[in-house]
Amino acid sequence: MPALTRRRFSLLLPALGALLLSGCTGEAPPAPAADAPEADAPAPAAAGVVNVYSHRHYDADKQLFAQFEAETGITVRVVKAGADALIERMVSEGASSPADLLITADAGRLVRADAKGLLQPVDSPTLTAAVPAHLRHPAGHWFGLTKRARVLVYDTERVKPDELSTYAALTEPQWKGRVLVRSSANMYNQSLLASMIAHDGEEAAKAWAEGLVANLARPPKGSDRDQMKAVAAGVGDVAIVNTYYVGLLLNSEVPEERAIGERMGVFFPDQGGRGAHVNVSGAGVTRHAPNRDNAVKLLEFLVSDEAQAVFARANYEYPVKEGVPVGDLLESWGTFQADDLPLSELGAHQEAAVRVFDAAGWR
Ligand code: FE
Repeated sequence: MPALTRRRFSLLLPALGALLLSGCTGEAPPAPAADAPEADAPAPAAAGVVNVYSHRHYDADKQLFAQFEAETGITVRVVKAGADALIERMVSEGASSPADLLITADAGRLVRADAKGLLQPVDSPTLTAAVPAHLRHPAGHWFGLTKRARVLVYDTERVKPDELSTYAALTEPQWKGRVLVRSSANMYNQSLLASMIAHDGEEAAKAWAEGLVANLARPPKGSDRDQMKAVAAGVGDVAIVNTYYVGLLLNSEVPEERAIGERMGVFFPDQGGRGAHVNVSGAGVTRHAPNRDNAVKLLEFLVSDEAQAVFARANYEYPVKEGVPVGDLLESWGTFQADDLPLSELGAHQEAAVRVFDAAGWR
């Protein structure tokens, strides 16, 4: 790292410390040696740190970062915020940004960060071997770490799985007033619609969005988990959600949430067609990473068999790496055909997706 950048980074540390204390509550790894630094504590040696800007909000990540710290001695410092806020922060920090690795819950945001010149190429045989080509940037600007399928869940007492088939079929008259989905501001929905635009064009995507809005049980609100709660409460019968949220409900500490999870059936749409829409949570090394080598090490750790299994078993996501055991729950949902659209395409159609949602009146 150039001397100037290093000096700027050390000037930034007090601010970063304050940010860490406010921004990553509950994120301090359990190992005593890895406590979150006090704002005025001496900074660990630059070689011993990796600064992560992450949109992800799952306990599995805490577990993995602690494991990485234990194995490598490298301290993982996490700043958590929404992907758009992190991207804006990196833009304003410019070359003095302390961020080494940007982690998002959606390929579209990685494409957006890359379009702003915030990421850099990484040439790692470990990463290219572990992550299939359609789930990473061709020049290594970002890599998918976990796959998430956006599927249909249904109330097993009111809906039979053979009534379901495709995303498109949810616009048919028999689903009037029965469909639940979150707001169009949500990036998972934006990527789903972006995939439809990539495959079928903007007009077809708009017709689908209008048809879906016409069948909604209520105006879009809440999270994916909230859609399932509404299904269980009888507000609607079928919802569009990411699979791992079913796993998180089933394994909740709250008995009512477990009961809701147990009512849900998981249906992979568009089998025999182009497959269920799949997105990734992924990461890219930042353009000005002060700790580039550590960022690459963390990425490589996150695609190890061990880490991929944690994503599957602790957060119910699908590994990007082939051959990693996924655990009983994911196995119980069965194998499925996934849309293999290159994820870079999702980013390319994200803006159009927002426009289409607006035109269709999907709030
Ligand atoms: Fe999520």
